[in-house]
Amino acid sequence: MIDEGGEQEGEEGCLSFPGIYAQVKRPQWVKIEAQDETGAVKVYEVKDFMARAFLHEMDHLTGKLFIDYLSNIKRNAIKKKMQKHNLPDNKVNNKNKKRHV
Ligand SMILES: [Zn+2]
Repeated sequence: MIDEGGEQEGEEGCLSFPGIYAQVKRPQWVKIEAQDETGAVKVYEVKDFMARAFLHEMDHLTGKLFIDYLSNIKRNAIKKKMQKHNLPDNKVNNKNKKRHV
């Protein structure tokens, strides 16, 4: 991540949590440096939904999930919902420790 700015709040879901959606705050826009499949370095500047998608997927690279942005009350509500539908809720328990990289 090179730069970011603004703020947006929107509904987010994830294939790791079928049927679970929550409001998550993210920067409005981000500037990211990445390598493509040939190893060439590219800079992407994206905003709105695309910025949200980039950040969501980048979080996965460090093991972070969108539910990590939620309060314990909301996390518990999601956990109950998943138990009700017999979905594995082990991911909800392990709140990731903040990384200082
Ligand atoms: Zn995801």
